[in-house]
Amino acid sequence: MTTTNPDIVSAVPTRLLIGGQWRDATETATMPVEDPSTGSTLCDVADASPADAMTALDAAVAAQESWAAHPPRQRSEILYRGYRALLDRQDELARLMTLEMGKPLAESKGEVAYAAEFLRWFSEEAVRIDGGYATAPDGKSRFLVMRRPVGPCLLITPWNFPMAMGARKIGPAIAAGCTMVIKPAPQTPLSMLALAEILQEAGLPDGVLNVVTTSRAGEVVEPLLRDPRTRKLSFTGSTAVGRILLEQSAQNVIRTSMELGGNAPFIVFDDADLDRAVEGAMQAKMRNIGEACTAANRLYVHASVASEFTARLTARMSELRVGRGVDDGVQVGPLIDEAGRSKVQRLVDDAVARGAKVEVGGAPLPGPGYFYPPTVLTGVATDAEMHHNEIFGPVAPVTTFETEDEVVTAANATPFGLVSYVYTRDLDRALRLSEALETGMLGINQGIVSTPAAPFGGVKQSGLGREGGRVGIEEFLEITYVNIGLG
Ligand code: NAP
Repeated sequence: MTTTNPDIVSAVPTRLLIGGQWRDATETATMPVEDPSTGSTLCDVADASPADAMTALDAAVAAQESWAAHPPRQRSEILYRGYRALLDRQDELARLMTLEMGKPLAESKGEVAYAAEFLRWFSEEAVRIDGGYATAPDGKSRFLVMRRPVGPCLLITPWNFPMAMGARKIGPAIAAGCTMVIKPAPQTPLSMLALAEILQEAGLPDGVLNVVTTSRAGEVVEPLLRDPRTRKLSFTGSTAVGRILLEQSAQNVIRTSMELGGNAPFIVFDDADLDRAVEGAMQAKMRNIGEACTAANRLYVHASVASEFTARLTARMSELRVGRGVDDGVQVGPLIDEAGRSKVQRLVDDAVARGAKVEVGGAPLPGPGYFYPPTVLTGVATDAEMHHNEIFGPVAPVTTFETEDEVVTAANATPFGLVSYVYTRDLDRALRLSEALETGMLGINQGIVSTPAAPFGGVKQSGLGREGGRVGIEEFLEITYVNIGLG
């Protein structure tokens, strides 16, 4: 295996951040970070033990009281300086992200801006935490409602959006006055380490944000959840892991926010503007190489427009340039690892075995790197595994439908409910679908719904709670109500 060590990688801290100090892991253990476009090692980062993680929790607990007492305006200004610094360093951070995660540079730049926007949004929210005062219905007392930080938090993030998924949690935690231990995914720790250093430079006090990189997630996290000092878990990742963490959180009745897996339907009606529908499908399917919880996982197209839609989609998918994300003009990078690519191939093979036709793509590209071509499948049977399991790759499975009732039933036939997309020009139908689809978010003639200014999250087994919007900070606050008796 070759080792590449571009400048931006060597500039990022690779140790644990605990109590404001960058420290080695116990016995200076390290783990490699790989470039998925070459399979080579970019660098090694600290590989924390359970004892290291407990030290990080100690630091978060020690900092909690003084951090909660920090003036909201100061918390806000730290976040705002972080926002500015991310934008100032957008190009180099994008390169770092592309090297460890694989997505094309333009998409990494977009994610850095998206992460920055979470810091800006929550810098604005930090000074708007309000309460209430009311007269009791019998007039004999007064009610005071106060909000305060929930306390030390454990934040766990996935590899697919290595910076934004962290910023979406760190922003509201800082704004609310919570301290935290964050555990990024082992495939992509560098973007998080860079963000932590930027927030340190922006003036975040020691111990407020502690970063623990580890290859031993289960061993490291469980003791933290069993420790009663941890008051909040915010997790983004798969439903399978979310379920385990919910069980572990039950013992101490820890507040939980869960951003879990999706299985998004993308529905194109016969009255849709097909130009917009194809454009939206490209965004909803190909953003992040298809490795997004919001990715269109099932495309339902009305039978009367299916062949035209498929022809246009196939043409667009065929034109995409696959390659290393750092290279000019590349639109589709590699998948994160061999396990991810094998899963995509298994799902494609299963769909084909059940009668699907490959319009384009359908087989892995030669290495090095974990490349998979943009793929369109038609005639995908509803019992194909990809209709029930996230593909997490650049594969668009098209299925036809005849009636609105039929497609609503099909779209809802999943335990997931993160996001759905509907293309129609009929306002009545759009409103009916808004109510009939079991989904936390819905794009109407819109292929991307994610924004820091709106509540992001799912229903059913796609999660609990919301990130972003006015409600995002609530996840990190709790309420104390005071009843003041009158003489
Ligand atoms: P994952 O396997 O669930 O891992 C997510 C994080 O949890 C990683 O940091 C992982 O570390 C850690 N983890 C795994 N097992 C753990 C355990 N037993 N205890 C504590 N932590 C544990 O998910 P992923 O493959 O990284 O990400 C893809 C999934 O995330 C997809 O299902 C996608 O839909 C979902 N996602 C959801 C949203 C949303 O907002 N709803 C956003 C993005 C992604 P290790 O890798 O070391 O195990």
